[in-house]
Amino acid sequence: MRVHHLNCGSLHPPLAPEIVCHVLLCETADGLVLIDSGLGRRDFAEPKRMGVARFLMRPDRADARTAIGQVEALGFTAADVQHIVLTHMDFDHIGGIADFPEAIIHTTAEEYDWAVVNPDFASRRRYAQRQWAHGPRIQTHAGPGESWKHGLHGMEVLPGVTYLPMPGHTKGHAAVAVETSSQGLLVHAGDAVFDASLYTPTSPSGGPLAKIGLLRGFERAMAADRKRLAGNHATLRRLDEEAGVTVFNAHDKRLFDDLAGTPPESAG
Ligand SMILES: [Zn+2]
Repeated sequence: MRVHHLNCGSLHPPLAPEIVCHVLLCETADGLVLIDSGLGRRDFAEPKRMGVARFLMRPDRADARTAIGQVEALGFTAADVQHIVLTHMDFDHIGGIADFPEAIIHTTAEEYDWAVVNPDFASRRRYAQRQWAHGPRIQTHAGPGESWKHGLHGMEVLPGVTYLPMPGHTKGHAAVAVETSSQGLLVHAGDAVFDASLYTPTSPSGGPLAKIGLLRGFERAMAADRKRLAGNHATLRRLDEEAGVTVFNAHDKRLFDDLAGTPPESAG
């Protein structure tokens, strides 16, 4: 499986460092698979699709940043993307799904229920309903899943792609584990952590990671259940320490720069 690290949205909240939207593009035997989708063309054409959060997050509106723009730059088409596996349904993770109308969109059943089926006051305010108004093909995965590896439970989404339920940031948030042949196990932690220094002292290539207080504050402010954050960080710390496992998150630019700087994984 060949894997590309894409930044599908640069966000510029006041006083904070630039935030990226780290997306994986996986070339599998069954077609292309995206892990998260960042912001999309339709968001930039019609900014109110992104909801009121866009005023705080201030995204760069650049077509070259969208997943579809990057998929096309690699020589593929939208129809080549068969599946999109979402860590959760916040606007900066699902905006790109509308650019891939034929893809099956995967989400945990818990997330879909809170966002779409049985929304409450908090989720109605939180999610940007316009981003799924085009009627995407949704496939939900109900937890808690089966006993997986590293002492965790997981739900298999596709061969080699597994949901690891990690609620806290949202009610149905999950990390996504991707088995690769030469990069080992890649774990996209989504928004289970914002400042990577909460689970690792160094980036994957060994550079030191300083604490970023603003990202930590932002993570707490956005959490649906703050009590679960520390437990998720501990799980990610333990996973990242395992041989052959690389954990990264959606928004820490230091990890994205580090991982995107490596040549795409090939073979297998
Ligand atoms: Zn996010």
